[in-house]
Parts: sequence; C-alpha cells; structure tokens
Amino acid sequence: MKSEFLLTVIIPAYFEEAVIEACYDALKIVMDENKWKYEFIFVNDGSKDQTLPLLKQIAEKDRCVKVIDFARNFGHQVAVTAGIYHSSGDATVVIDADLQDPPEVIVQMVEKWQEGYDVVYAKRKKRKGESWFKLVTAKCFYRFLHMMAEIEIPMDTGDFRLIDRCVVEAFKQMPERNRFVRGMISWVGFDQTYIEYERDERLAGETKYPLKKMIRFATDGIIAFSTKPLKLVQSLGFMTIVLAILILGYSLVSKYILQTVVSGWTSLMVTITFFSGVQLFSIGLLGEYIARIYDESKNRPLYLIKEKINFEKENRMFNE
Ligand code: UDP
Ligand code: MG
Repeated sequence: MKSEFLLTVIIPAYFEEAVIEACYDALKIVMDENKWKYEFIFVNDGSKDQTLPLLKQIAEKDRCVKVIDFARNFGHQVAVTAGIYHSSGDATVVIDADLQDPPEVIVQMVEKWQEGYDVVYAKRKKRKGESWFKLVTAKCFYRFLHMMAEIEIPMDTGDFRLIDRCVVEAFKQMPERNRFVRGMISWVGFDQTYIEYERDERLAGETKYPLKKMIRFATDGIIAFSTKPLKLVQSLGFMTIVLAILILGYSLVSKYILQTVVSGWTSLMVTITFFSGVQLFSIGLLGEYIARIYDESKNRPLYLIKEKINFEKENRMFNE
C-alpha cells in the first residue's frame, strides 16, 4: 500500500479560458479532500485566449501548479506527451480541461493503483451531451480499430487514465512522432485494469476536435498500430487479378465458342472507373504510411516550449 506518494495530474488546454479555473478548483478539491500531495501540469497547447494568463495567475498562488506553454498548437496528443515527459509523480493522471472527465473518478483510480495496478483507464459507460454524429463515429472507430490493431486497445476509452511511474518511464522511451497515446499506453503492457464512468457534458466552450482533427486522429490510431490496411490492399489486388482472369476467360469463350462479341461500353467504363478508384485509394494508403516514415526521418523535436512556469526546481515539488 502506497500511502506517501506524489500525484501528477496532466491537463492539456487549448482555448479553454471558459473552464480552466473551474477545472483547477475541481481538481484541487479532490486533492485536498484526500490529502494527497499533488502536482498539476497544465500544457497550454498554443491557445491565444486568456487560458495562459489565467494559468499564470493560478500558478502564482499555487506553486504545485506547473505550466508548459507551447510555441504553437501541437495537438492534444503531443500536449499529453509533454505532460508525461515532465511528470515527476509516483502516479500520473491525464484528464481533459473541460471537466468532461469527473475529477472524483481519480479517487477510484488511485484505489486501483494502490491495489497494485500500473494502468487504470476509465471506460465510458455513457457520454452525455455529444452529438449523435460523434457518438456513432466514435463507436465505429473503436470497433474498427479493435479489428485492425495488432494489440488490444480498449474500446470506448479516452486518454483519461492513471499510469504508474514505471509506465511513464516506458512511455518516455517511445520517440515516435505520430502519437496515439491511448494505444501506446496499451502497448507497454504491465498490469492494466479499468473502471467505468459516465462522461459528462463539456462545462463550457466548444469541442476542440472538429471533424478534420477527428479524422487525422483516427487515421493516426489505425496506421500507428496496424499494418493490416496494407495487407488488405494486397489481398484486394490479388482478388482483382483473379476477377480479371475470369472475365478474360468469359470473353474468349463468348467470342470463339458462342460466337457472340461481347458488347458493353457501360460495363467497361464502370469497371475502369471502379478499379482506378481502388488503385488511387491504395496508392493514397501507401502514401499515408510513407508520409509517416518521412515525418519520423526528419527527426524534428516533437514540440517546442516557449515558457515553463514553476519548474525551476528540477526535483520533486511537494505541497508542503
Ligand atoms: N486539446 C489540446 N489541443 C488541441 C485540441 C484539444 O490540448 O489541439 C485539449 C482540450 O483543451 C481538452 C482536451 O484536449 O482539454 C480534449 O479536447 P476536447 O474536449 O475539445 O475534445 P472532446 O472531448 O470534444 O473529444
Ligand atoms: Mg471534451
């Protein structure tokens, strides 16, 4: 049983001026009620609104609040990564700034962690206040990912989770650029368990995941954890060849034996356009993988930090 420990909470924030203070207050209440030593790492992912000034005010009053200010918007997954890299806690929790993930759930997570689990992820039983479009696409995505991925990635689970120090250290050894954090944490293994919770509505503001970002995120998830799409395309190519041979046989038989010339401009056009589509799609798919190889080979830093607040002490900071 770990009784003396430091809990790190990572909160990525992108244009969250409407909720950031409420988020801090709600988290602080949970920390104080349980008398935990804590460190909050807010990552300002290039917001240009009042998010950063508000965070600075909070950090001024509470030295346990650390702030990382990115040079620009690097994306949610990279913000979470930066938080994990800077975490010094014995256990680390990743949570959204909009209070969709109730901070009280952290108590259950810590209990599970104290039982000896290294990863406690939170599975959504219900999602309130989301559009049916988001619900349906998310459901389909997780099922599809489950089918494609070469490792077991839990369904209906976001990045809201607790990870032990050993997972943080393992995570730091994964330098890839296209990051799908929830998949990477599944990949490391160790002892994983989950708790169920009901996801609330966003407290205020709008989602920072428009359709374009959602598609990019879903593609990253599938491509980073599966090479099955490549193999599927290969099988598709093989099936097309078989089909072409059958059609050739049929044409020859009808020309020389049945003596009827195959007519059919329409079928020809349909076939050509269909298979051109398949080919272009396949090339595009290859491109997705190649683009990622290119990204990796550039070896650029994952993110750039403009400013760090309350990080001056390199070692642990407790709320004495
Ligand atoms: N976020 C971020 N960078 C981005 C987009 C989102 O740091 O480019 C943060 C955002 O501030 C929030 C979390 O990621 O704390 C989840 O985003 P959001 O709530 O908009 O996503 P949703 O819950 O709608 O899927
Ligand atoms: Mg949200």
